[in-house]
Amino acid sequence: MDNLEFLSEYTLFLREKKKEGKKVIAFISHDNIPEELLDAAGFIPLRLIFAGNDDLMDSSHDYLPSSTCAFAQSCIGLFSLKPNQYKFLDLIEYFIVSNHCVSDICASEIISKYFDIPRLNFYVSYTKNENSLKYFKLELVELKRQLEEINGKEIKDEDLRESIKKYNIFKKKMLDFSSLHIKGSEKIKILQKAMLCGPNFLPELESYFEKSLDNQIQKSFDSKDILMTGGSIFINDYLIDLIEEGGGNILFFDSWIGNNYYSQIIEDNILDSIENPYDILVHRFKDNIFGDHSVPNFLENKLIQIEKIYQDHLKKTGRKLGIINHIIKFCDHISIMSSHLKNRLQEKGIQVLNLERDYSRAIRGQLTTRIEAFLEMI
Ligand code: SF4
Repeated sequence: MDNLEFLSEYTLFLREKKKEGKKVIAFISHDNIPEELLDAAGFIPLRLIFAGNDDLMDSSHDYLPSSTCAFAQSCIGLFSLKPNQYKFLDLIEYFIVSNHCVSDICASEIISKYFDIPRLNFYVSYTKNENSLKYFKLELVELKRQLEEINGKEIKDEDLRESIKKYNIFKKKMLDFSSLHIKGSEKIKILQKAMLCGPNFLPELESYFEKSLDNQIQKSFDSKDILMTGGSIFINDYLIDLIEEGGGNILFFDSWIGNNYYSQIIEDNILDSIENPYDILVHRFKDNIFGDHSVPNFLENKLIQIEKIYQDHLKKTGRKLGIINHIIKFCDHISIMSSHLKNRLQEKGIQVLNLERDYSRAIRGQLTTRIEAFLEMI
């Protein structure tokens, strides 16, 4: 199924959910938005994970300068251009304005204001300490209040707990699926669908997992193994095709659509021992030390994590991993640390390509040349 087919199925899926009385609530896709709370309140969370061509990017320029990151530009472009395949955007009733980064908050505010979608606020601290955890809980309680006001109905603690368990099971299956040794372009398509449809997608995910178990790539396959970190690959991005055409295969997706999401699994003992479900979400926020939104020591944590994946892969397969750090143009979160990340990993003998780009078609040739040269080196 290609993206167009999937997007039209997704429109039908959302229409069905609306007939069941659910409301669609959208947000720009990074970490930390508590989907479980939205789900428990009877909303359908819609992550904006569509970017990859210059039409979307360029059509945002009436709202923000072109020095805004290419992904945030594309999110605005979705609403100003409204291409046919994104009909489901008309079904959005609310928009969460959050502060993953400056571009995220600006784009979210613009979408809410100029495209007339009522906003809900959810702000997340950039630090991790006792006070920021208290603040995170206050924001959860405030979001709960906003959702309850819309529905005129209380969100019960047991419903939130059930929702947390449901997402937990779903993320565990995503993690299993992500560890399969299959073609990266097939893997990312399933991960994108999973993140868009949420736990409703679990039966399909299980069936893809079973089917793919027996169709894994043999070690002798002569492509180069890649871990992609930095910015995500969104629906309709051509980058992964360039990497595969150049002879690479992305095995690990270390980004918002990927490890940042499905590594946030809550251990059973935590689920059983914390009574208040909001405290479970706070606990998960505290443990999310690999997300680029925050944190003291983000770079150090990231380096340790990448080196571990690299060494485990080497031990298991005897093959080296090349690291592609995908820097979406004007994304400060990723670009600011990119030279440190590269230098520190290269000191340990791990090859890194810092690949900065926007979504213009014109740079396709340059990207191909850089990717091919990097793959040659591994
Ligand atoms: S600047 Fe980076 S983190 Fe922020 S919206 Fe753009 S891609 Fe996401």
